[in-house]
Formats: sequence, C-alpha cells, structure tokens
Amino acid sequence: MKVWQAYRFALDPTPAQERMLRSHAGAARFAWNWGLARCRERHAAEGKWYTAIDLHKLWNQAKRADPGLAWWGENSKCAYQEAFRDLDRALRDFVKSGKGERAGRRLGFPRFKKRGKCRDSFRFSTGVMRCAGATITLPRLGVVATCESTRRLARRLDAGTARILSATVSRTAQRWHVSFTVEVERAVPERHPLPGSAIGVDLGVKSLLTGADHAGNVTAMDGPKPLRASLRRLRRASRVHSRKAKGSANRRKSAARLARVHARVADVRADALHKATTELARHYQTVVIEDLNVAGMTRNRRLARVIADQGFGQARRMLAYKTTWNGGTLITADRWFPSSKLCSACGAVKAKLPLSERVFSCDCGLVLDRDVNAARNLLKLAVSGTERVNACGGTVRPGLAGRVLVNQEPGTAQGGQTGTASRQREAAA
Ligand SMILES: [Zn+2]
Repeated sequence: MKVWQAYRFALDPTPAQERMLRSHAGAARFAWNWGLARCRERHAAEGKWYTAIDLHKLWNQAKRADPGLAWWGENSKCAYQEAFRDLDRALRDFVKSGKGERAGRRLGFPRFKKRGKCRDSFRFSTGVMRCAGATITLPRLGVVATCESTRRLARRLDAGTARILSATVSRTAQRWHVSFTVEVERAVPERHPLPGSAIGVDLGVKSLLTGADHAGNVTAMDGPKPLRASLRRLRRASRVHSRKAKGSANRRKSAARLARVHARVADVRADALHKATTELARHYQTVVIEDLNVAGMTRNRRLARVIADQGFGQARRMLAYKTTWNGGTLITADRWFPSSKLCSACGAVKAKLPLSERVFSCDCGLVLDRDVNAARNLLKLAVSGTERVNACGGTVRPGLAGRVLVNQEPGTAQGGQTGTASRQREAAA
C-alpha cells in the first residue's frame, strides 16, 4: 500500500543559507500577495478568480515586463509557483466552506500576508531533494545541515521504498524546519493481529489520554514530564510577555521567547502523542474517539486548553492513519454523543457536567473517574458499531452514533516525526 508520510527535520543553515531561506519565504509571500491582488481585481470586474495555472502564466509575463520584479531570479521558481497553488487552494476552500462542504470553522476570504505577521514558509516540488547523514539537499540551497540524523528517511530512500514528492521549508520561532512529503510503500496487514480487540479513548485536558478496553482494562497516559515542565515555562513566559509595553524592544524579545517555548511544548506533545497512538493502533483493532469540534475549540483563551485542543486534532489524524497501517479501524463518535455526560452503567444522561468535576457520580450508584466513564461509553460504540445507540434517551441521532473515519481531515501533521500528507496532490501546473 502506498501512503503519504511527512518527515520533518530541524535545519542548521549557514548564515548565507539562512539569508536564502528568508529570501525564498519572502518570494512566496510576495507571490501570494501579488496573486491575491490579481484575483481581487478580476473578481471585482468579472466575478471570478484566476487558477494557479493562470496566475503562473500572468506572473511569467509580468516578471519579464516589469523592471521592479527583476529580482525574481534570485529564488527558485518553485517558491512562486507553489504560492499560487496555495492561493488557488485557499480560494477553493473559501468557496467550499461558504457552501458548507468543508468541515471545521468557516473560512474567510484569503488575506494579504504581512512580513513578520505570517508564517515564513515556501515549498519545492521539483528539483534535487535528498537526504544523507545529518544533511539534506534542496534545490538552490544545496546541502543544508540538519540538527538530527536523517537516517530514518535516508534508509527508506536508499531501499527504494520511498520517494520525496515535495519539501516544505518553514520557520517556527527562530528555527527553520524542512518537512518532506514522501510517498512510502508500506506493508499493511489485511487483518489486525488482534481481531475483536477494541478500546474507547478519551482525549484529556489534564492527562494525555484515558482508555477503556474490551477486557475491562483502563489505560491512563499522562502527559510526559518535560511537557508539564515546559507548560510551566510557557505560563511564565506568557505572563512576562503580557507585562511588556506594546511596541517596545522588550516586548519583541519576550514574544520571540514565548514562541520558542510554544514550539518546544508542541514538539514534546507531538512526540508523546506519536508514542501513545502507535501503541493504541498496534494493540487494538478498533479505536473509538470523540469527534470534537477542534476548529471551534482552539479559540479558547486558556493556555492548557489550547495546547490540549491542538493535541485532539493531532491525535485524531495520527490514529486515522496508524489504525489503517495496522489493519484496524478508527471510529469517531458523533459530535452529539454525550460521552462524558452519559452514565456508563445505567445510561442516564446528566444535563450538565462542568470540566472541574473530575469524578462522575450517578444516581444509580456509579462513582467513577470522569475520563474513564467517558472512555467506557466510547468503547460501547465499538461494540455496537454503527447501530442505534439508544441508551442515552434519544440524544444520539439514530444510526449516527459512530462513524468510521475513512478520509483524513484536511491539514498536514505538524511538529511530529511522521504524519500523512492529507491532500491529494494536484496535477502539476
Ligand atoms: Zn447511572
């Protein structure tokens, strides 16, 4: 089975390479803004936009005609081309979102990107892309040192079981990363080695996850210690940052520090999630999780909450492909399934259960950890499959209690070692 997987490495560029990285990111931003301006002009006049291919043609004319654009040759043509593709996709997503054809938060019209206010990133989709030892090779930039060994990808490339499709270079805090989208040949078993095994998983705010399996075992995975330590640092950094005067040099410095701590927390968390989800997919044929409105939730201002929310989306994506790789299935509960408010013993539903209440207690006599109760309810969905679950007094819509997640959610894996590239590659322009 051919799957798409992302391999991400931190870069250690020379000062000259760093300047080129910035230049390419600037070129991608310029192309996006240039394309967006053309699209807005055309939309005002004719009511439609340009496609990525149109924009590429227009750009090729403009860059030769306009002496102000003579610098274009300093950067790989990929930087411009891929920015147009991103814009094309953003416009189509905007239309889909407006029609309600796209999951998640409603998207606004694409906006102009401002230097320092947007994510610095660009992509190569053609040219020489390789890795060996603690280096990678990219078009234009040549051999760039990485902070870690690239062995896990290099081995697959050497064996011919992987092919690099594209490389996205981006900056988080002060650190540059490359993320290769790789087509990997994976041996996927037809059946899970442990048929009939199932686990309900509650993704937590305080703990990483809580699972209840078919044999009655409870698994509680706490966030790793470094995560808790970094969370403390994050709180401190954000407190310090909020006290600095707006527009001051100190505020700029504290913002950079805050971004670094943020990036570190995200990395540690992604790493822990990878380990946990790999274990789950290996040991259980069926994994059931909640369907959380991830896009809607990240707007919460509380720090711990925001971090946890990012984890929900990540965990779901990881579980989706890892269960597939192991011959298993991921089921997501319907959004309206009240996993935490439902009594796992008698099926009564509580009207309200504030997050601060960590213990679930029911009139029937059940007293149970809140997360374990939720996990047990989710496990029942694995057993009942997509059948009607009527234990909770009609709150669940018939036939919709559980659904098999076949396609992955849009968005690429971030901050982790592996992930799947989620979108189909568009035909090369
Ligand atoms: Zn009860």
